[in-house]
Amino acid sequence: MAELHVRSLLVTGANRGIGLGLVQHFLRMPNPPQWIFATCRDPKGQRAQELQNLASKHPNIIIIPLEVTDPTSIKAAAAKVGEHLGGSGLNLLINNAGIVKLNALDTETLEDMREIYTTNTVGPLLMAQAFLPLLKKAAQGSPGSGLSCSKAAIINMSSIGGSIASSFGWELMQITSYRCSKAALNMLSRCQSLAYKEHGILCVALHPGWVQTDMGSCAGHMPPLTVDDSVQGMLKVLSSLSEKDTGTFLDWEGNVIPW
Ligand code: NDP
Repeated sequence: MAELHVRSLLVTGANRGIGLGLVQHFLRMPNPPQWIFATCRDPKGQRAQELQNLASKHPNIIIIPLEVTDPTSIKAAAAKVGEHLGGSGLNLLINNAGIVKLNALDTETLEDMREIYTTNTVGPLLMAQAFLPLLKKAAQGSPGSGLSCSKAAIINMSSIGGSIASSFGWELMQITSYRCSKAALNMLSRCQSLAYKEHGILCVALHPGWVQTDMGSCAGHMPPLTVDDSVQGMLKVLSSLSEKDTGTFLDWEGNVIPW
């Protein structure tokens, strides 16, 4: 299996759940990244305490405020990341931040549909647009013609809940706004893969499994996977991705999920 050699990465929603787990696991790698841009919307808040503690011990973690629904915040974050990187590029953009509301189909509202689409779908679109120059730079700076996560990649944290073919978990949670936002995120991932392949950037939609986080547990059921198991699996998947995988929808074990 190929190894992940990521010099720089950015994770959105890095203060808790899967995002925090990703930061922790990248730190533990035999070759940890030189720069881990851990972004969250309220770095000084109570919910970022664990990330702050981690950053105080690891100078390669740079905490950056980022609200993924706010284009101004995204642009400011991209400028800050660019400053830190000097002349080099960003290898890995992980669009992890996301929200869900436990609505039934009949109780969905315009506001909830809009809020969830803006966060889960438009956020990753704007993030990729803003960080594209840095991702391109990373791709240009890496030798070889193939695609890989060590070179330059966008990982969109999707969900099997957005799979039109599987309708996973419908009996437990209808969450139509969430499902629609992730189905659209899958399409976005495919579009990004088509547009960015020529720039040397790999793009995938990744389902982390059903994971023990605030979101995973919000409907009152105990998810089967720990954050550690999910993240460990996803990093193994990321290390194995190549040109043939760009534009696919995979789960934390590397299985292809039907759209
Ligand atoms: P959590 O609810 O535990 O964490 C969500 C993270 O996203 C938090 O850091 C939160 O920040 C951040 N966030 C939410 N909205 C915004 C915003 N507008 N701007 C910036 N950050 C924001 O979720 P998980 O860790 O479980 O989920 C991570 C990703 O994995 C999501 O995209 C989710 O859809 C996906 N996923 C999760 C599954 C699971 O079982 N857990 C299953 C399938 C997919 P804050 O602390 O400020 O609220």
